[in-house]
Parts: sequence; structure tokens; C-alpha cells
Amino acid sequence: MWIDSHAHLEMKEFDPDRPQVIERAVAKGITGIITIGTDLESSQKSLALAKTYQTIWATVGVHPHDAASFHPETLPQLTRLAQDKQVVALGEIGLDFYRNLSPQKAQIETFRQLIQLAKTVNLPIIIHDREAHEEVLAILREEKAWEVGGVFHCFSGDWEMAKQCLDLNFFLSVTGAVTYKKGSVLEEVVRRVPIESLLLETDAPFLSPHPFRGKRNEPAYLVHTAEHVARLRGLALSELSQAVLQNTSRVFKRLLEN
Ligand SMILES: [Zn+2]
Ligand SMILES: [Zn+2]
Repeated sequence: MWIDSHAHLEMKEFDPDRPQVIERAVAKGITGIITIGTDLESSQKSLALAKTYQTIWATVGVHPHDAASFHPETLPQLTRLAQDKQVVALGEIGLDFYRNLSPQKAQIETFRQLIQLAKTVNLPIIIHDREAHEEVLAILREEKAWEVGGVFHCFSGDWEMAKQCLDLNFFLSVTGAVTYKKGSVLEEVVRRVPIESLLLETDAPFLSPHPFRGKRNEPAYLVHTAEHVARLRGLALSELSQAVLQNTSRVFKRLLEN
């Protein structure tokens, strides 16, 4: 049994065959999929999916790419959505200084406001951090984000960074990117992270694990990432599954309430 802790099932890439994608996931033992909001509209869509499918939960948030779309009136709307029992986290939120699709100043301001919102509604946060490690860590400290904790999704730092995230009460979530290169920095992090702080995700439709790299990703492929991680850790697949399932429900407490 697995939970895909980060997928974008509301995206248009899944419009042609969403029910089949969900069926294929269930057939592979993925009994839960957390669908991630990236702006107000996709947050609403994610919640609608969570209400339609028993195996889906939602998050609401504004991605750093979309930070420029964050207006004062977005906040009360997100607050209202976040009250729903099917919403298990605030996210994804954070900083992306690699693509800089929104101005950095807007990214930082939105990130701070949404951490505060997470604290108000008492939900963990899902962090998107690309080429902004120092800045993200500094903001998490300043905003006392450890009070809610959460996940660094698609973790891309080294072991030094990982230790700082763990100290701040955050879990590390790993995508199919771990299957790309033998001996990578990411493989090292996956070997060293305490098993009770590790989550798995697809980030579908992006970042397909080997042997599907370059194709549309979907939650069913989580199993390929899991097999790779189990090998790296020297664990049986069933042991990894049990640990990750426990971790996922420790971060996303509302999973257990529904
Ligand atoms: Zn992301
Ligand atoms: Zn994402």
C-alpha cells in the first residue's frame, strides 16, 4: 500500500483519462493520492476531485510560479477552502529562483503570508524549493514554520541541507528523480535520511521515474521510485511501504480523520 503524497491530477494533462489514471494507481496499490493546488483555481479543482474520488485528498496553495497571481482577496478564499476536511495541507508554496516565473519579491511575500495562513488553520505546509535553499530555510525560521511542520517536496538539496530541514521539523519527499543517476547527491540523501522522515511522491505529470522518463508521469509509477528507494535502503518493499505510510499519516493528520 502506498500514498502518492504529491501529484497534480487536476492538471489538463489528465483531462483525457483521469478515471483510468486513478484506476491504474489503485491496481498498483496506491490507495491514496494527494492532489496539490498551485493557485486559487487549481486549489478549487483539487478539492472538487477530492470530493469526487474516495482515494483523493487535496491541498490548497499558491506555487511560487503563480505568486504574481496572489492578491489580497486570494487569502480569504484560500482560508475558506482550507477549512474543508478533505484538505490535508497548505501547499505547494515556496520559492523558485531557478525559473523565476514570478518576481522574487512577490514569491517571498506570498510564501510568508501562506505560512502564516497554515498556522492560522493549523495545517502542515508543502514546500517547493528550487535553487533557493538558503532563502527558504531563512524564511521558515523567521516565520516559525516548525510550529506546523510539513514536507520539502521533490527534495533537491544535499545532506547538509537535509539535516537543516529535519531540524526544522520537516519531512523530505522524493520523486522519480532519484532513479535518474547512480551515485547522485539525491541518492546519498535517501540513504542517510532517517526512515521516519521520508515520504514518496510522483509530482505527476512531471518527473517520471525510470523507465518512463520523459513521458507523462502518473501515480501508478510511484512503485518504480519505491523499488529504487527500497534497494538503496536495503529494505524489503513491504518494510518501506509500512514506514512511508506511517510517515505520510503523521504529516497529513487529516488523512486519518477521513
Ligand atoms: Zn513543486
Ligand atoms: Zn508539484
